[in-house]
Formats: sequence, C-alpha cells, structure tokens
Amino acid sequence: MIGLEGPSTVICSRAGCDADAAWALHWRNPKIHPRERVKTWLACDEHRGFLSDYLDAREFPLVVTPVSESVEFVPDRSDAGTAPSALPGARA
Ligand SMILES: [Zn+2]
Repeated sequence: MIGLEGPSTVICSRAGCDADAAWALHWRNPKIHPRERVKTWLACDEHRGFLSDYLDAREFPLVVTPVSESVEFVPDRSDAGTAPSALPGARA
C-alpha cells in the first residue's frame, strides 16, 4: 500500500508484545498467495528475529524493511537466493 505515513500506531505483531515496531516483515505463503499479495507483520528489535525465523521455517518468501517502508511484492525465495552471486560488477 502507498501512503501509510502519519501517526498510526505501529506495534510489534508478536503476541503479547506491545513494543513499538521498528521493522516490517513482508511475506506471503506461495501456496495460497499470488506474487502480488503481501502480508505484513510488524516487529520490534527483539522480535524481528523470532518472526523472521518463523517464516523462514515455513520457507515463505520474506522481505524485511524499516517499519515505514512498504514493498510492491515479495520475490520468490529462489529469486532472492540467486541475488548474492548476481551482484552488479561481479564477473564470473
Ligand atoms: Zn516485540
């Protein structure tokens, strides 16, 4: 979504945590969500790892950004996996 600025409350999505969120975890379940579908969880510094581990364990594609940012889509994990070896300027 575009235009989410403003004093909206951003609280960590972890159950039982009411800390201010610093991170946004954008993810989807590739089995049920089209590529353009983006689910977003918010996380404080403490729970960013917990929530990303949770999604990692399920092999869901995930993009983590600062909480104020959004993404248009979440790339497939296979796409992301090819990125490190395809850096601009890196020649085989
Ligand atoms: Zn938290």
